[in-house]
Amino acid sequence: MNITNIEELKVPRKIQIETTNHCNSKCNFCPHHVMKRKAEFMSDKLFTRLINEIIDIPEVKVLEMSGFGEPLLDRHRVFEAIKKVKEKRPDIFTLFYTNGALLTAETAHIPADKITISFNGGTKEAYETTMGTVKFEDALRSVKLFLDERQKHPEILKRINVYILMITTKYNALTASQFQELWKGYTNVTTGLCQSRDWLGQYKKSHLLLPYDKIQYTHGVCHRLKYLAEIWSNGDLALCCHDYDNKHPFSSVIDSSLIDVWSAPKRMKIVGDALKCKYTIPLCQHCNLKIDEDPANWPVPVK
Ligand code: SF4
Repeated sequence: MNITNIEELKVPRKIQIETTNHCNSKCNFCPHHVMKRKAEFMSDKLFTRLINEIIDIPEVKVLEMSGFGEPLLDRHRVFEAIKKVKEKRPDIFTLFYTNGALLTAETAHIPADKITISFNGGTKEAYETTMGTVKFEDALRSVKLFLDERQKHPEILKRINVYILMITTKYNALTASQFQELWKGYTNVTTGLCQSRDWLGQYKKSHLLLPYDKIQYTHGVCHRLKYLAEIWSNGDLALCCHDYDNKHPFSSVIDSSLIDVWSAPKRMKIVGDALKCKYTIPLCQHCNLKIDEDPANWPVPVK
């Protein structure tokens, strides 16, 4: 049920942790390579504390281990944390995004509920123009090692959803059918296309297939403000992914609990205003992605 009572919004329902903002790719649609935030790994102390806190918040329904970095560069910690969360809170849906280049057969055994692989091109040329530093053959080999291992284990196929996504740009859009062809024959793998964006006008538009500012989603209450706590690798509670350079952090969770930072009066005032479709942060004012999700429609883990 969608929540409109400010008191009930004093706890986050979705958590996103960027354990690292280092990346092994240089995708032309992603502002990562112009981002001014320091590239780092979240400290062990903070990461462990956050995971323990999340386990103790009954309202949390989703945990995503992604941000502006490649989570498999930090795979040991990410896997251990997901394993711990699934042991203590099997009701939390866990997921992460990856560019797939570091997937292995072993990765197929991670107890996450969903893995989204961003594989951005159906041919070598389209892929490498889009992805920058990752080689098409290397990424394809890694993703296939992972998928082949899944095929051997029916319980993994049933439990973990794999979604292979192509972010479309004007450099790769014409290779969509070749992209789909790459994944034929794999069970329980969903594929899809998603248009690249201009990050609310903050990032260059030269890669765009269509003018992104022409795309309008529901202009209502932003679900990210209501439900999603995104924590950058330096410990700041972020406004949302659109604020990739962290110009509007709410505060740091290094010296305060996540709940305290999330429910701080200044933040709750912003959420209360958003409930009335009033937005005070400039980035939010011209945001065309104010989607009001209903948590009742969120995915739940397979039992
Ligand atoms: S309104 Fe847009 S910019 Fe503001 S928090 Fe929501 S998604 Fe982010």
